[in-house]
Amino acid sequence: MSAKRLIDIDGLSLDLIETILERAVALSQGAEPFAQTHTVANVFFEPSTRTRVSFEMAATRLGLRVINLDGERSSITKGESVLDTLKTLHAMGVELAVLRHEQTGICHELMDELPPGLGLINAGDGCGHHPTQALLDAATLIAQGVDLPTAKVVICGDLRHSRVARSNVALLTRLGVGEIGLAGPEALMPAMGSDFEGIKRFEDLDSALANADVVMMLRVQKERMDAAHGGLDWADYHQHWGLTAERLAKAKPDCWVMHPGPMNRGVELSADVADGPRSLILTQVRMSVFTRMAIFEALLS
Ligand code: ASP
Repeated sequence: MSAKRLIDIDGLSLDLIETILERAVALSQGAEPFAQTHTVANVFFEPSTRTRVSFEMAATRLGLRVINLDGERSSITKGESVLDTLKTLHAMGVELAVLRHEQTGICHELMDELPPGLGLINAGDGCGHHPTQALLDAATLIAQGVDLPTAKVVICGDLRHSRVARSNVALLTRLGVGEIGLAGPEALMPAMGSDFEGIKRFEDLDSALANADVVMMLRVQKERMDAAHGGLDWADYHQHWGLTAERLAKAKPDCWVMHPGPMNRGVELSADVADGPRSLILTQVRMSVFTRMAIFEALLS
């Protein structure tokens, strides 16, 4: 039987999405994990704190054997391809690889080339997809008691470079969320392809915030900006697009604030919002371990 793969939200059935979300919430409330005897590898070619460590924590809590391969210190530096690296790990007994890479679309490209017995989880590919982040964000909202079918969710900031936004739009749409809105400076709006087609766009943050139940702030991804987008003035960005306590006060009093991390404090949001009572940022981090446990269980069982 072919191993299971999680490459993007569209590749998941609604059944599987619901199973993962329910299980993540149950695990966060103390459900017993199903013990696993498989071997998984974290293969990270881009820096990561939350995603890499939470996959490792999730694997450890399930009793999986987990190998961490740091791309920068692997034979990739000698010219080995990612495909050969994954085949090599599989030959040594790795059954599922968790891959993070700066090349957009790499997981889709690798899919047909991988040994059939090797599972793959996309842990973020360039500006492409980050399905496990979207799943953990949804699990966080559900655990928090947010009623998704009526919730108004605003995603704000550097949408152009955000795989988190793309995966969240896909997942929230599949889950039938009340409304999704996008807000950000024109220079950082996504190229309007099918992934963002038809999604409401706001001209400014204040109008996006009015009536929002959830605001997902995105990191300004300076490392992905080319000359055309890198010339932004960050103080000016903060003034127009930064979520401050003053701005948040214009939203509903129970509006939740999310951010996938890592944060640029003082750019996309102010420290008092990040650390304030409406912030779910560390709850997202906590839920990331339970969600990734649920994902491992679903893919390895
Ligand atoms: N940690 C998230 C990602 O890897 C968000 C970010 O880096 O801004 O995409």
